[in-house]
Amino acid sequence: MEILRIWYCSCSGKPLELENDAHLEEEEHEPVCPRCGASPSSDPKHSISFRDQDTRDE
Ligand SMILES: [Zn+2]
Repeated sequence: MEILRIWYCSCSGKPLELENDAHLEEEEHEPVCPRCGASPSSDPKHSISFRDQDTRDE
């Protein structure tokens, strides 16, 4: 079982799921909000949140 971390930004009042390109292996890569530019490490408005989702093979 793997844990998939899904990031959200709620800058518009409604959580927006952020794109997270898992194909990139760069440690510095992280999802960025297309609306306000916030990211998990640069979140001045504290609008970033995440949810860990279990992934199961079926
Ligand atoms: Zn945002």
